[in-house]
Amino acid sequence: MPESVWILGDQLLHDHPGLAPGRHVVLIESLQRLQQRAYHKRKLGLILAAMRHYAVALRAQGYEVDLRSAPDFVTGLRAHLAASGSTRLVCMAAAEYDTRQLQLSLAPMLDTAVEVLPNDQFLVTRYPPRRAPVRMEPFYRMLRRQTGLLLDANGEPEGRRWNFDADNRQRYDGRPVPALPTFVPDALTRSALDDVEALCPQAIGSTDGFALPVTRAQALAALDNFITHRLPDFGPFEDAMHSHEPVLFHSMLSPLINIGLLRPLEMCQAAVHAFYNGQAPLASVEGFVRQIIGWREYIYYRYWDMMPGLRDVNAWNHQRPLPAFFWNGATDMHCLQHAITRALRDGYTHHIERLMLICNFALLAGLQPQAVNDWFTTCYIDAYEWVMLPNVLGMGLHADGGVTATKPYIASANYIQRMSNYCSTCRFNPKDRVGVDACPFNTLYWNFLIVHEARLRANPRLGPAVLGLRRFDPTQRAAIQAHARFVYEHFVQ
Ligand SMILES: Cc1cc2nc3c(=O)[nH]c(=O)nc-3n(C[C@H](O)[C@H](O)[C@H](O)COP(=O)(O)OP(=O)(O)OC[C@H]3O[C@@H](n4cnc5c(N)ncnc54)[C@H](O)[C@@H]3O)c2cc1C
Repeated sequence: MPESVWILGDQLLHDHPGLAPGRHVVLIESLQRLQQRAYHKRKLGLILAAMRHYAVALRAQGYEVDLRSAPDFVTGLRAHLAASGSTRLVCMAAAEYDTRQLQLSLAPMLDTAVEVLPNDQFLVTRYPPRRAPVRMEPFYRMLRRQTGLLLDANGEPEGRRWNFDADNRQRYDGRPVPALPTFVPDALTRSALDDVEALCPQAIGSTDGFALPVTRAQALAALDNFITHRLPDFGPFEDAMHSHEPVLFHSMLSPLINIGLLRPLEMCQAAVHAFYNGQAPLASVEGFVRQIIGWREYIYYRYWDMMPGLRDVNAWNHQRPLPAFFWNGATDMHCLQHAITRALRDGYTHHIERLMLICNFALLAGLQPQAVNDWFTTCYIDAYEWVMLPNVLGMGLHADGGVTATKPYIASANYIQRMSNYCSTCRFNPKDRVGVDACPFNTLYWNFLIVHEARLRANPRLGPAVLGLRRFDPTQRAAIQAHARFVYEHFVQ
């Protein structure tokens, strides 16, 4: 009997486990998914273009592919089953909660047999036992051992260390940054971009200048370009920020791995290969492997561990709406002006700008976590619920009460000045805590410590920061709190 495999737009794996000779393939461009909220046009363009190229690639391999536009998934699947005559549907479990729930309830809706295969886009299959709290570092080491990545002949970590973070905190020193590779849209990609413009009027940003990889071959070329040109400097400047260099030595590969054009293990293996060939230093290679099989896998684990309750967490009970500058970048805070403008325009800022600028500000300013998460989901071209919720609500805003990250990632202007060039041309003074020139990050940082002193003191990882409050007498504390009210009134509106 004929059967079909349904492949989602973020599962465009060249070796998708549901592909089998003789099985129909169905890909659905769901209008409901495209239009359900404002997304970045580049993200929508990437997904549609990649789906269409994927269909072409599968057809070239002999598969019969039904790529169809439909009001929603179920309507599209019904129409496909009727057209193909398939009586059995196979799919791979979605990375995201709602779509996986839909897959699990499809059989009665479609009146056909449905098999949901395990998701193989992630390496974490054997979850650690739940008795003890799961923390990122032991989780990462477990995956290093499972994969054998960067282990020596004795099974010990290369360089005798698991962690090179201490070597990887340099300020950008002005060395040339290799240009990102660009991929000129072909006719198929242009048609996808045109459809986004026509079908998604609510989407933000622009498809102008779209140059992202949209095929497996292009994704591999982008990976190779990163490994050759940027990986060697990835580690030392991983945390650096610069007004003229939005990407620095980061890979910009998250939009591709998140839709299946690349697999995590092959990305790590390519980096490890560069280390053994003497093309990239260990600190950079370990740093990159840590991002992929450490942070990325940990985040996916956290998502499934905490869903569906994760969506509603708000451990600090923060209720302030997003200031208007989140939607136009119009703020005098130079660092946020750059990061937010880039997010709105390009759909990308690198990790430290997401964490230590945007989320740091949002947490210190008491912005409502779900509104912040919605903003990230709208702006970023690599945004998917499984990766947004633990990163934004967990790591960035500590709204999950410390499950994802053991301490809130908060910092004053001191950190921003140390890791970037933003403060040198900003109208605010990174040294001041109060006064009209005081950097709002400073005022809000110290105000946060004062307001939450007792709670933060109980966190061993924040002890030293809270101890800094001892320097302030009651008059200084009152001045900080008074200036915080001024900051809220003038800079958080
Ligand atoms: C507030 C916040 C929001 C984020 N939102 C997203 C998002 O929507 N989508 C997304 O893919 N990542 C997200 N991240 C994680 C990380 O910032 C991005 O993966 C990374 O910046 C993507 O750029 P890159 O490919 O140049 O990364 P690189 O610095 O080159 O890192 C290599 C790869 O490691 C992976 N990675 C690194 N850190 C993480 C992490 N914390 N979680 C998941 N993957 C990670 C990514 O696949 C990335 O491509 C977020 C982090 C924070 C703090």
